[in-house]
Amino acid sequence: AMMLGIESSCDETACAVLDGEGRVRAEIVASQIADHAPFGGVVPEIAARAHLAALAPMVRAALAEAGIAARDLSGIAATVGPGLIGGLIVGAGFAKGMALATGAAFYAINHLEAHALTARLPGIAARAPDFPYLLLLVSGGHTALIAVEAVGRYRRLGTTLDDAAGEVFDKVAKLLGLGYPGGPALEALAAEGDPARFTLPRPLLGRAGCDFSFSGLKTAVAQIVSRLPPGSLPRGMAADIAASFQAAVVEAMADRLSHALAMMPDATCVVVAGGVASNRAIRGRLEATATAGGLTLIAPPLRLCTDNATMVAWAAIERRRAGYSSDDLAAHCRPRWPLDGAVQSLIAGKA
Ligand code: ATP
Ligand code: MG
Ligand code: FE
Repeated sequence: AMMLGIESSCDETACAVLDGEGRVRAEIVASQIADHAPFGGVVPEIAARAHLAALAPMVRAALAEAGIAARDLSGIAATVGPGLIGGLIVGAGFAKGMALATGAAFYAINHLEAHALTARLPGIAARAPDFPYLLLLVSGGHTALIAVEAVGRYRRLGTTLDDAAGEVFDKVAKLLGLGYPGGPALEALAAEGDPARFTLPRPLLGRAGCDFSFSGLKTAVAQIVSRLPPGSLPRGMAADIAASFQAAVVEAMADRLSHALAMMPDATCVVVAGGVASNRAIRGRLEATATAGGLTLIAPPLRLCTDNATMVAWAAIERRRAGYSSDDLAAHCRPRWPLDGAVQSLIAGKA
């Protein structure tokens, strides 16, 4: 029972083939970073066209890598939201066409649900995490703490009130003159700097609940930079700003996580997902916070934390196993699709 997964919601085109047990038979990701870098961010129109150009040869390569033909697929899963609508339509349309041609079942997958279930993929943890667990999703587009109660049942405990965590890393990196995407470059620069040099705000620290806010922090960094004569940011000072910024984010995240743990006393473990979770300072502090709460932190390998299609195929396998039916070929794409309550069918009229 082979499952093909397709991901095209943002700036990664990806496809993967998993067997019925969730073992990865093929996994391919093509990043569009180079296409978007000249613009300093993802350009939706460019993204959609790049997905269209990449997808067919990539699916052919993935089937070859898995050693199967299209007719051997029992299911075809595609991300249908949330994300950039052009890319979603390219990926979903491709998957629907293939399903129509091969007779395979079509699965319309919520990208956030795929991130949420990745930690249960065989081989990630010594034992697949049991429900309910606490998910911290920190990516370029999302920042949320979610109670994962069962396949298809999610409760959002907290979310960002303004920017996503990765987005603020990218914006601060831009202020410091680093390239796009800024997160990894900012982490490297922070390693050279003094985190105590600048006192930056810790938005919402100690406040009730577990929402996030990053815009005040971003503004504070912008003010420091704007007080300097243009084009004269010495590297040492940039490093100190980066280190001070990262320290503020680390502290805010640990605080929000400990509040979420208090809101979810039955959590079996903490799972992180999203590109920001690859930051070592953040990951280390989250680990310490989870341990202090008596729980282990499960962090999938980076290739599965960032956008990928293995998680899309796996979410379809989980849904099939949990007894959900496959989706109608009339399923819609949804730019916004919050992961709250039951993740339902997207058939016209029911969405
Ligand atoms: P989505 O939000 O739709 O899941 P995305 O492509 O925006 O997709 P990811 O691919 O999960 O998100 O992660 C990319 C983000 O993670 C970028 O904002 C990037 O700057 C940030 N990031 C990557 N590495 C690091 C790091 N070491 N430290 C901080 N941020 C990082
Ligand atoms: Mg990405
Ligand atoms: Fe993602």
